[in-house]
Amino acid sequence: MTTQTAQESSQSTTGAPTLEIVDLHAEIDGKEILRGIDLVVNKGEVHALMGPNGSGKSTLANVLMGHPKYKVTKGDVRYQGESILGWSPDQRARSGLFLSFQYPTAIPGVTMVNFLRQALNATAGKELPVREFRTRLTEKMKLLKMDQSFARRYVNEGFSGGEKKRAEILQLHMFDPTIAILDETDSGLDVDALRVVAEGVNKLNEDNHPGILLITHYYRILNYIEPDFVHVLVDGRIVKSGGKELAMVVETTGYEQILDELGIERVAGGSRIEGE
Ligand code: ADP
Ligand code: MG
Repeated sequence: MTTQTAQESSQSTTGAPTLEIVDLHAEIDGKEILRGIDLVVNKGEVHALMGPNGSGKSTLANVLMGHPKYKVTKGDVRYQGESILGWSPDQRARSGLFLSFQYPTAIPGVTMVNFLRQALNATAGKELPVREFRTRLTEKMKLLKMDQSFARRYVNEGFSGGEKKRAEILQLHMFDPTIAILDETDSGLDVDALRVVAEGVNKLNEDNHPGILLITHYYRILNYIEPDFVHVLVDGRIVKSGGKELAMVVETTGYEQILDELGIERVAGGSRIEGE
């Protein structure tokens, strides 16, 4: 999807990567979950992060969004060269970081259209003219083949898995972020929901494509999205990175084989239970 030249030109003028995770260690309730993560995501690139249940994928997403429950004990997260660890989740959003699960719960009485307008204004730090907003929303919904009536629904109220994903992808398109972190936690076995996400990502504007960190518990989504890079996270560390072919390796041989090859033993065995 991205050529080397596009990748270089999309970096900030300082030459700093768009998102840089350096030796990141993080814990929750005194338990270390992330044990030294290094990862660079530049604007325009699509990265897939895979790993067994309990390996720390959602923890990484939560730390990147600035969830207060997670404590960073070592390392850094830099956005266009600047450390963001001291930034509030709001500040992160305003700077151009998008997190798919920012508003996971239902907001009764608030329609999608109102929610999107308020969120967009808050993110931009200014009031977007209503007409401009409406035009943009209509355009994006057309692009994403969404029924216009969807905008009049109450946020997440009675949404199916697929509709939640639609809402999320519509936000992604409306916000135009620099980096988007999509944690596909509950897409589970619902192929429709996976498709919504995949098609939504594939329809992002090629000329102004955000850097995507697609965290996936189900590599089936990679049948629909072609990542530029694939990373395998095990026990809070990225044990292997590669191109899209790595996803195939995982699918056919599983994580255990990769670990065996690398001579890595899991700290807690392979029997961890998903902790969403
Ligand atoms: P993944 O998303 O890769 O399945 P998680 O990041 O959800 O993994 O979980 C990693 C580990 O952190 C698991 O052992 C899980 O039990 C633990 N964990 C995650 N969130 C919490 C939490 N809120 N409280 C306690 N432990 C947690
Ligand atoms: Mg998870």
